[in-house]
Amino acid sequence: MNLILLGGPGAGKGTQAKKLIDKYQIPQISTGDILRAAVKEGTEMGRKAKEYMDAGKLVPDEVVIGIIRDRLAQPDCRKGFILDGFPRTVPQAEALDKVLAEMNSKIDHVISIDVDEEELVTRLTGRRTCKNPDCGQMYHIKFNPPKKEGVCDKCGSELYQRDDDNEATVRSRLATYNQATKPLIDYYQAKGLLRPIKGVGSIDDIFTQICGILG
Ligand code: ADP
Ligand code: AMP
Repeated sequence: MNLILLGGPGAGKGTQAKKLIDKYQIPQISTGDILRAAVKEGTEMGRKAKEYMDAGKLVPDEVVIGIIRDRLAQPDCRKGFILDGFPRTVPQAEALDKVLAEMNSKIDHVISIDVDEEELVTRLTGRRTCKNPDCGQMYHIKFNPPKKEGVCDKCGSELYQRDDDNEATVRSRLATYNQATKPLIDYYQAKGLLRPIKGVGSIDDIFTQICGILG
């Protein structure tokens, strides 16, 4: 099962991906996570990417396409994968189609999670993320708080607030989404792959909707 989770920043892609990993035993591939790891390691790519990320802009297509090409070639993707935060532009989607065709593979479903903008701002400015890269669980100070403040329920690591989860950067990320990423809804609709869902409601209810689509 090869899935794309599509939706604005804060729509709940990562939250649902974590639940899908447990149920379907397929990896989550988050370009945002891969880029943040590169920033933390201080690699050349990480240093360049950080400027775009801090401004709420997209990292250039060729960089993220290269990341995805390498990641999809890993053996753990053979059973399927969940793309979270990729593709984000039409050229990225076209490149993905090409990479998958070369692997005799294809996308099965594009789950498009719809949440209105003001809700996205509230979600992102209250988001807390687990520092442990092997966990990466996300919480919300009001909507989904951890049992103990500042500590991950799953792995016990410290939680932090991402540099780009401040209101000014969130507004810029939303503008980027509207301009560059929203056209993907039509792109996948035309291919008959789009599975739209309402992203408002409890995390479990949304997960049930997604599982209903995937069967
Ligand atoms: P994305 O990966 O799409 O950017 P996340 O999964 O990180 O979004 O979710 C963004 C924030 O919203 C997190 O703080 C998360 O706990 C919270 N969240 C996720 N799903 C819901 C929901 N259904 N209702 C309320 N808050 C949610
Ligand atoms: P995310 O973790 O998905 O919210 O992504 C955080 C940031 O990483 C984005 O605001 C972009 O700057 C960058 N990024 C992540 N995925 C992509 C992508 N597919 N294309 C371009 N930039 C990306």
